[in-house]
Amino acid sequence: MSVQANRLVQSLPATIPFVAPEETERQTGQVFKARLGANEGNFGASPAAIAAMAAAARHDVWKYSDPSGHDLRAAIAAKNGLSLAQVQLGAGIDGLLGQTVRLFSDVGDTIVTSLGAYPTFNYHVAAYGRQLVTVPYVGGFEDLNALAQAAADHKAAIVYVSNPDNPMGSWWPGQAIADFAHSLAADTLLILDEAYGETAPAGTLPDHAALPANVLRMRTFSKAYGLAGLRCGYVLGDASLVGAFDKIRDHFGVNVMAQKAALAALGDEQWLAGTLEQITASKARIAAIAADNHLLAHASATNFVTLDTGKGAPWANALVAALMERQVFVRKPMAPGLDHCIRVSVGRAEELDWFEQQLPAAIKAIE
Ligand SMILES: *Cc1c(COP(=O)(O)O)cnc(C)c1O
Repeated sequence: MSVQANRLVQSLPATIPFVAPEETERQTGQVFKARLGANEGNFGASPAAIAAMAAAARHDVWKYSDPSGHDLRAAIAAKNGLSLAQVQLGAGIDGLLGQTVRLFSDVGDTIVTSLGAYPTFNYHVAAYGRQLVTVPYVGGFEDLNALAQAAADHKAAIVYVSNPDNPMGSWWPGQAIADFAHSLAADTLLILDEAYGETAPAGTLPDHAALPANVLRMRTFSKAYGLAGLRCGYVLGDASLVGAFDKIRDHFGVNVMAQKAALAALGDEQWLAGTLEQITASKARIAAIAADNHLLAHASATNFVTLDTGKGAPWANALVAALMERQVFVRKPMAPGLDHCIRVSVGRAEELDWFEQQLPAAIKAIE
């Protein structure tokens, strides 16, 4: 007998959830001129964060990181009016999602999400042998009532909602999220993914005090802060839930550079305000380019714009492929009901210039 992965792992598909743009570049031998597919912070990171990384590279990176991540956690806690015990760090929201599934459900438990919502969450659910139940979007929005109903019907251990939403860019007001949270059974955990919290309009993020104890909120430095490669995110919630992460997390999992850079980024509010303006302007330009090409922009509270092609999924798939061939990296929702759309992330002016130039040619090529 040879060594084999366990039976659960053998039953899983062989791949990670996304084809990376780097992989596509290797396959095609072409470098993307417009990297607009992964909702990254194409405007770069705060100079303060970059200086902190440079200093850490010189003075600190030979050390193991502070396993309690104290200084960054304390700053996050202060900013949110929470205690240190209500904040934990992780290797991005992605890392935290896996830990959360592992911590707050058992093998065979049911977990509820929307059909077409964030695939990395589903990936962790499958990897831990939990059962996924999905609820369709309605009109490009996550259907909170149907999610609550499914969670009750299936006695779900966990229900996942992203607000604002990826891949549609839609959002519910904080009050609707708070009402939704209160409608769940007390032993169902709500994962509230707020990866796009910084770009959302005022009132989208409920006050912590408005949420019940069975909620964990996830935030990240990957999107508005422009630090996706750093792999740093955090979870906020009741100390009794947040404390559980200490039992299983990789204690040096958030590295020295990440802790220092994220702390500096968090403190540079002026830089963030400027970046949010760039994101807003970039979204308006994407919507205008789309309109010129008879594609309809959904309203977005995120750093991307979802474009309704007005055609079917095969046409939208072909458009993404045609753009890829023209050195434009974009992605699209894949679930029925959403799959006629494509998703374009914000980018620098020269990237949007290239997108503007290539989009009509891509459309022409598939018609
Ligand atoms: C981008 C994204 C993430 C990933 O965040 P990381 O902190 O980089 O892991 C998580 N959730 C949603 C909804 C996202 O769009």
